[in-house]
Amino acid sequence: MKHCIWCRRTEQETTFNKEAHTIPKTLGGQDICINVCDICNQFFGQHYQSSPSVETVIKETFNITRIRLLDKEHIGKNKAVTKFSSQYFKVDLTKHKLELKPAYRLQKGFQEKMGRQIKKGLYKIFLEETERQKYDGHNPQYDFIREFCRYDLGDYPVFYFERLHGIIAMAKSWTVRPEFFLDPDQQFKYLVREPSFFEFEFLGHVFGIATSRHWELAIDNYIKKTTEAKRQFFRRWRLVKNFNDIDLSLSILDDVDRP
Ligand SMILES: [Zn+2]
Repeated sequence: MKHCIWCRRTEQETTFNKEAHTIPKTLGGQDICINVCDICNQFFGQHYQSSPSVETVIKETFNITRIRLLDKEHIGKNKAVTKFSSQYFKVDLTKHKLELKPAYRLQKGFQEKMGRQIKKGLYKIFLEETERQKYDGHNPQYDFIREFCRYDLGDYPVFYFERLHGIIAMAKSWTVRPEFFLDPDQQFKYLVREPSFFEFEFLGHVFGIATSRHWELAIDNYIKKTTEAKRQFFRRWRLVKNFNDIDLSLSILDDVDRP
């Protein structure tokens, strides 16, 4: 019987008619989490108070990255992507620049709202993929993720690791169809495994999230371990607060683009 990982309702209490993509379809995601009910699925696609929807924020921000990674072969006249329109951003694909549209730039705290929605979106993908790949989305360990993503309670960290070099070892197929890897042997060596944290690579970006409500107890050890593992390839890490804490247009790639 279907059992929603977000609200905990079952097929007897609610409907499961719509397909819930773990990674937005508009971002190229094709995987479905069957244990997401229609109400929760719809919730993630709606505005939340004055914040844009989690799905829209994830779609818009990471599509900027995706287009950046695809650009040489796929963007331009008569190519797969000819133009990019965004509700929130003004994007200059040739100069790899992006900024919020004036209407949003002037809204107080908007960047931070977007940052919070991005964080929820990354936790959401993690939990839905954990359910899809490991049937472990209902684990009580992840209750804090339910509270954060679905009910806007609390605040949890997203670490962003800034690369040292513009070389991103990533298959083009991942850009066309992004995937989320939970299994350590599919991962890169610089990603560390810790009981209270999970690190992953998503569209060329490297993130770390908490997998325990009590992550603060393990933070010192985690920072030490992750800094050591990334020394060769990463410049620094930061906690995501605003959307522009993430190098969405992958400006680091400009290093290798230049002759
Ligand atoms: Zn639900």
